[in-house]
Amino acid sequence: MPQLDLITSLAIETFAHAIQAVFLIGFALLLMYYHRYYRREYLQYWSFACFAFGPSELIRAFLAGSAIIAPESALSWSSGLQGISLTFHYLAISFVVLGATCAIFNSKPQQYWQYLAYGISLLAGIISYFWLDPAISSVGSTPSSGFMRFLVTGATLIVIGLIMWRKLGAGVGPKLVSAGFLSIGLKNFLVLAAMFSLSGSAVDWILSFQSLLTVIIVAVVIVGIIIWLLESERNTAVRAIQRAEYLHTHDALTGVSNREQLVSKIPLFIEYCRGNNRHLTIVLIGISRFKVINENIGIRGGDQVLKEIARRLQNFAKQPLTVARISGDVFAIAFDHLKSRSLIEELASQLQDTLSKPIDIGEKSLNIAAGIGVSRYPQHGSRSEVLLNKATIALTQAKQSHQPIVTIYQRGMDEMYSYLVDMEPVLRKAMRENEFTLYLQPQFDFDHQQLCGFEALIRWQHPERGLLTPAEFLPYIEQLGLSTELDDWVLDHAAAILTSWQEKFGCCWPVAVNLSAPQFQHFQLIEKMKRLLQDYNISPEWLELEITENVAMSDLHNGMSVIQRLREMGFGISIDDFGTGHSSLAYLRSLPINKIKIDRSFVSELQQNDNDVTILKAMIRLSHGLGKRVIAEGIETQEQQDILQKLGCDMMQGYFYSPPMRLQFAEQLIERQMQDNKKPLPPGEFATA
Ligand code: C2E
Ligand code: MG
Ligand code: MG
Repeated sequence: MPQLDLITSLAIETFAHAIQAVFLIGFALLLMYYHRYYRREYLQYWSFACFAFGPSELIRAFLAGSAIIAPESALSWSSGLQGISLTFHYLAISFVVLGATCAIFNSKPQQYWQYLAYGISLLAGIISYFWLDPAISSVGSTPSSGFMRFLVTGATLIVIGLIMWRKLGAGVGPKLVSAGFLSIGLKNFLVLAAMFSLSGSAVDWILSFQSLLTVIIVAVVIVGIIIWLLESERNTAVRAIQRAEYLHTHDALTGVSNREQLVSKIPLFIEYCRGNNRHLTIVLIGISRFKVINENIGIRGGDQVLKEIARRLQNFAKQPLTVARISGDVFAIAFDHLKSRSLIEELASQLQDTLSKPIDIGEKSLNIAAGIGVSRYPQHGSRSEVLLNKATIALTQAKQSHQPIVTIYQRGMDEMYSYLVDMEPVLRKAMRENEFTLYLQPQFDFDHQQLCGFEALIRWQHPERGLLTPAEFLPYIEQLGLSTELDDWVLDHAAAILTSWQEKFGCCWPVAVNLSAPQFQHFQLIEKMKRLLQDYNISPEWLELEITENVAMSDLHNGMSVIQRLREMGFGISIDDFGTGHSSLAYLRSLPINKIKIDRSFVSELQQNDNDVTILKAMIRLSHGLGKRVIAEGIETQEQQDILQKLGCDMMQGYFYSPPMRLQFAEQLIERQMQDNKKPLPPGEFATA
């Protein structure tokens, strides 16, 4: 290897550092441009790194150049410039590290890490300046500070290169960048090894050309960054397309299939079942009262419930072929192993068990109930939409009839369904246009031998069909989910009647209103009732609320607290149709109601059936023992009235006394009572006896 004279070696070094500085500043501008365009934080840090390397290299080029022109004078200020150059160099290394951290963790490092990095760079520069040997070597840098620079830079870049290689995925870009960092680091260690092991001229050659090698590797790193950016842009686009495709076929909230995908999968299942002599079963699960759940725990809570249900269905032990959410509160699952009706019922009951386990939302624990509707291939059709429609009809039926387990589609259900669909606008119009009217049936008090109140009973004055009784339209109202709206209408009109009586007669005769199950379970019932009292300026004891036994018992805990609140507000509560439900008399004790209404079926059998007399006697005695008053409904004959009076019944309602009547006749009855000097009984008489 030829000897390099000092001038040549300094000239090469000047050129190498100068060219490096120019390139680095160019790279810095390029990276800054890319940062602005692609908004990747690591680009900014690496751009700063190049900006910092630039002056560092420029100073070193200047030092080497000035050593050629005026070797003696260069000595006096070179150590100062060396210190500045090294400070820039370490600052650049800090930026490289910060950029790499940004790229690896995909987020900007905390502020304090940045300050720490800058502090260390400054400290390293100061140490180099004050404590390291400032003597100029043959290649224009002090051996000790040069040694430190190579060591620190080499070690840092090797560590960063290795971590990036492992963490940044398999793309060509990140690999090229990591390999670039690793190469510069390894090159530095090779230079260090050469400084220790080789002779002076070989070291001079190596030191002179290593800067040029660095420029080449940095250029490779820059190319790597550009490839990296292009790759990540392409990946982002691919991910966006995949996400769009996913959303097209999946439910974004729960991650299960959506209706479209279910519709496209069913033909494949059918094909498979046809080839393997299997039956396809489409099971629809409709969450009961999901609207109320949503209103109660908020939309986010409702979302959590849906996610939990989807999770339970996906983990369902019987492994469905697919799980889909086909509308807000309806999930669909499919099976191919259910041959008989009994197997379907068994599976439905397992599903009910799975779904009825409590769901914890925040501090609340919810118990959800679900209706299940089923359709099957080949029995009910061989097209996706047909099977789904029939399962939907079965589900509607299941929800309406409160079927405890499952409804399997049957021929004829469609007609009912389409009739319902036609009925909805008609019923809504009837409500809007006040085609409904309240009839009032008087109630009679045995002790005081006088009128003691009325029950409000709804009628529909149909424009074509005449006056309709509840039996002719209430089932549709229930099935269409309009019960709450109808009850609101009744409550409003009953309250309006009470207000008008107050004005007309100066007093009020109590009116009992029937509450449907959805109304009683409505989470805003208490607020509604408060508003009603304010809006109509009526006293709560004038309004009595009738709920049936099964509604009161269905959710004993909630029901009890609602009844308690209503009682505290001053409303009278009576249990309607008592004796027909499946509660035992023992439950009566726990219900804070003040009246029970014995069902008409007991009354009608009274004369023929001694058993009924015995049961009635026990009921009345027990109710009185618990401080509750008893009214019997459906009394049609003198004998029935006499027996009930003898048994200790407090009040009666029935055709024997009066059928339900129009408001104007009810008012005439009140007027007659008042002429006979009979006043409404004091509220105390209606409370506990
Ligand atoms: P309910 O609350 O048990 O009302 C008593 C029913 O028995 C009424 O039938 C009434 O007309 C009838 N009734 C009264 N005395 C006699 C009698 O001596 N013999 C016979 N055979 N029947 C008698 P209606 O008005 O047809 O009401 C039937 C059911 O419809 C009611 O039973 C109640 O459950 C429901 N309903 C009526 N009006 C409303 C309402 O405004 N809202 C709600 N949610 N349900 C109502
Ligand atoms: Mg009633
Ligand atoms: Mg009744």
